[in-house]
Order: sequence, then structure tokens, then C-alpha cells
Amino acid sequence: MILAGPTGSETAPAFIAVRDVQVTYGQGGAEPVQALVDINIGVPEGAFVSLVGPSGCGKSTLLRAVGDMIAPTAGSITIAGTPASQMRREARIGLVSQAPNLMPWLRIADNVALLHELSAKRTGRPAPDVAALLQLVGLEGFGAKRPAQLSGGMQSRAALARALALNPDVLLMDEPFAALDEITRDRMGIELMRIHARFRKTVLFVTHSLAEAVFLSDAIVLMTPRPGRIERVITVDLPRPRLPEMRLTDAFARMVAELNRELYRMMA
Ligand code: ADP
Repeated sequence: MILAGPTGSETAPAFIAVRDVQVTYGQGGAEPVQALVDINIGVPEGAFVSLVGPSGCGKSTLLRAVGDMIAPTAGSITIAGTPASQMRREARIGLVSQAPNLMPWLRIADNVALLHELSAKRTGRPAPDVAALLQLVGLEGFGAKRPAQLSGGMQSRAALARALALNPDVLLMDEPFAALDEITRDRMGIELMRIHARFRKTVLFVTHSLAEAVFLSDAIVLMTPRPGRIERVITVDLPRPRLPEMRLTDAFARMVAELNRELYRMMA
């Protein structure tokens, strides 16, 4: 379902198609950093794909390149056949990062509508149904509150609703739950699965947590540093819908252990 590696032997064009991408920071300077080399991945529409690997292996860089926040030094990235840069201009890419970055003076409902409002003139998109979005992320009844009145987990939910308000084709999530305590983080993972089953966006998700990656993903892209490249793509064949109790099964534990072994082998 997902193809990766230097050959990138895709048969059908993927929804997110990353071809021969390289990213070098500080090119032309004294010490350029090769953050990514030979990146080829094809992500099917509606898939949930996680990027995992040791710090510095280029996970965030790859996510930022797909979101057109940085331009690749070489290679191309298309989403639904359209260059990532155009997708960003048309506000068809949603981003959720580690910090919710809510505007403290705005009500939650206005925070959720904000990105849409900022891009509406340019994109001509219809206004989102903020009440429905708040309900979707479990914040029904909190629209009139300010961010400071919400817990960390609830702020994360609001950030997700804000990204979904754009009705994006792709959702990029960069360690969105990393700042949360473990119990809240687990709950957010379960909620995200429920929400993903409803909205069926294509998701690229960066995480440090192998268990989180296994629980959420259709496939896991294992990356390795210096220079950042794709080591392996692991398909997660646990059935959907993913239910919380699946995390207690032998099949789940085996997948997490296999990923752990791969990571140790890579770092040895
Ligand atoms: P990860 O998300 O896997 O931790 P990053 O994508 O943040 O990895 O970083 C990949 C490599 O690129 C690292 O060596 C990092 O130090 C370097 N890097 C990241 N951002 C920049 C930048 N803006 N300028 C220079 N080097 C960078």
C-alpha cells in the first residue's frame, strides 16, 4: 500500500508522492547538513502513515517539505497530482504541531475558525461548521471558553479542530501529543482514531512513541539519520477500527518489539 526506497517503483500515482527528495540545510555554507537524501514514498489517499526514527533523522524536515514550509533541494512532492506549494497556497494542507498555538484572547470557537477566515478570501471556501467540529473533537460546549480555561488535552483537540476547519486534503501532524501526560496522550490517540475513521483524511504523523505509531498507523516509515533516509516501511496489519484493547494483544506487542529491535539495530 505504500512504497518507499531509492527505486520508488510506484505502479499507480500515490496521493502523496515524494520523489527523489533531498533537503540540505545551509547549502553553499561552510557546513551544510544533509537532512534528507533519496526520499521516495507514496501514500495512498486516506491512509494514516507515521514517521519514526531517532532524533535528527529528518522526520520534521520531511513533514515540513510535504507541507511546503521548506523547499526540497532536489526532487518533487505532489499531493493529489498537484505540487505541494500550490496545495499550501490553496490551504489544502492542515498542520497540527506539538504546541497548540491557540490565540489566548480568542474564544475556542473563534480559534477554530481562524485559519479558515484568514484563507477564505483567497480560497473561496465555505465557512466551516464550527459547532460540528467542536463536537467531533469532543469539545462540545467549550466554544465560548478561552484557551487558558482548557486543559492541555483539550487545547490539542482545539488545534486539531482548527486544522480540520480548512477541510484539508492532507493532515500533517508533528508530535501533536508529545507535550501531554501519558494517560491524556493515550486518550488522544484513541480519539484521533475515531476522528480519522470519520473524516478519512490522508495523515502524515511524526511521533517518538512506537506504541502510538503502531496503534494509529496503516504503515510506519522508519527513518535513519546522517544523512536522513528511509530505512524501512512497515505495514501495520492490525484490523480497523482500532480499539483501545488492541494495545493489550500479543500482535500489538510483537509489532512494537519489532520496531524497537529495528531502532536498536540502526543505532548500534
Ligand atoms: P527529526 O525531526 O527527525 O528530529 P529534523 O528534521 O528536525 O529531524 O532534523 C534533521 C537534521 O537537519 C538534523 O541534523 C538537524 O540538526 C538538521 N536541521 C533541522 N532543521 C535545520 C535548520 N533549520 N537548519 C540547519 N539544520 C537543520
